[in-house]
Amino acid sequence: MSERRCVAVDLGAESGRIVVGTFDGHRLGTEIVHRFPNRPRMVDGHLRWDVAALWSEIVEGLSRAGAAEPVDSVGVDSWGIDFGYLDERGDLVADPVSHRDARTDGTLNAAAQMVGRERLYRDTGIQLMQINAVFQLLAESRAGGPPPAARRLLMIPDLFHHLLSGSSVAEFTAVSTTGAYDVAGRAWATKLLDDLGIRTDLLPEVVDAGTDLGAVVPALATLPGLASTRVITPGSHDTASAVAAVPFADPYAGYISSGTWSLVGVELVHPVVNESSRKANLTNEGGVAGTVRLLRNVMGLWVLQECRRQWAREGRDIEYPALVALAAEASAMGSIVDVDHPSFVHPGDMPARVRDYCRSTGQPVPSTVGEVARSVLEGLALRYRAAFDSIAEVTGRPTTLVHIVGGGSRNDLLNQLTADVTGLAVHAGPVEATAMGNLLVQLVALGELGGLDDVREVVRRSDCGRLVEPRDPSVWGEHYTRFRDLVASATPVQ
Ligand code: ADP
Repeated sequence: MSERRCVAVDLGAESGRIVVGTFDGHRLGTEIVHRFPNRPRMVDGHLRWDVAALWSEIVEGLSRAGAAEPVDSVGVDSWGIDFGYLDERGDLVADPVSHRDARTDGTLNAAAQMVGRERLYRDTGIQLMQINAVFQLLAESRAGGPPPAARRLLMIPDLFHHLLSGSSVAEFTAVSTTGAYDVAGRAWATKLLDDLGIRTDLLPEVVDAGTDLGAVVPALATLPGLASTRVITPGSHDTASAVAAVPFADPYAGYISSGTWSLVGVELVHPVVNESSRKANLTNEGGVAGTVRLLRNVMGLWVLQECRRQWAREGRDIEYPALVALAAEASAMGSIVDVDHPSFVHPGDMPARVRDYCRSTGQPVPSTVGEVARSVLEGLALRYRAAFDSIAEVTGRPTTLVHIVGGGSRNDLLNQLTADVTGLAVHAGPVEATAMGNLLVQLVALGELGGLDDVREVVRRSDCGRLVEPRDPSVWGEHYTRFRDLVASATPVQ
């Protein structure tokens, strides 16, 4: 059998990359052929994504991929939540506004007053966060409505699929993150949107992950290697693609998609939307092959990234392996840091904030780089255990094993701490889960693979990962109880 070559466009909020996947019928190899920054900027009073800049980087990456050998297909995944509009001719009306723009300030509370927090969750299954598309739509509607030329709303990956193929549909996993879509009913939450005064006539048709959207547009087809390239939507929300590539050992295993954020969850057939799941801040996002990702957003390695940036500003450039080694040498179970505390949300002098947090909670103040890093990593592992505990409470299914995928799975200390604190074995890898999930769903659409089970079988063959066993988890019991008490005393009841 001849090889298949697919391209994954993986757009992150800070950078993007183009990954070529080569499939020999057995294993998938990946190669990053292009990396580029993603910098939103102020235009017309709002922080906006630069679609033209991103598009030219995507074309550059595709040209590199095609110059080597012909490309069978391409698909785009990105962060969720943000959207833009096409006009009557199918042109982008304006650069999409970023979820970090201040326009949503106060809109969550406004929406809650209009329809109630319970309903916002019940009608969609999505955890309430100010940045959600539904609150951006409400902000826009209160500021006079969508731009007059707007004819169709598309999510970020859909906009690039439109540029690639001319399609103007949306993909399920991306729209599932909006808070405007009913994940259980698999339809736009039009009644809720009506009651919020949000226009529903611009909402697009929604297709499943793995839909062939057509050939690349003529301008691309003339480039070397792209003459027969199809555009196939993967699970276009990046976490959906990452979870597609989790090589689940059993159906009760959980996952942590570990990068800037940690997405901690399980894969289900049906969403869980009730008072317990709402109070536990569990969200139900769409997965590939009609699955549901019941998960909790944990602040993730962001806190450590920001610490690293601050230390670099102070003249100490510390690579991740060295940082992990320093943390491993620091003593265990010092001060407890709740990485989800609001003081860690914004960029800044994170080591100082970690120290302030410890001081204000009456704990010893970590001083060295190793002590600060260790307390952040232990704080992450404690949050992971809390997330899996609340998932087990609402599903009635205890988690049996934890898969960690993404860049964070390279952190051996965090893998071990996660095993120790949760008392569960951890399977680490693949690091490139998002690109692999994107590529493998394209291969399903190309007829090379039968479905999600095949996808995961190929992941197992291509990347065997590492298994980390828990070491005497009983020693963490008391520390975990202290963590829960600390969080309970600091978190306002919702
Ligand atoms: P995202 O796409 O969410 O920005 P990635 O999946 O690229 O994130 O993961 C980035 C994270 O991976 C970094 O924040 C860092 O904590 C971790 N990481 C990357 N390389 C290493 C390494 N060699 N050792 C330990 N951790 C690493």
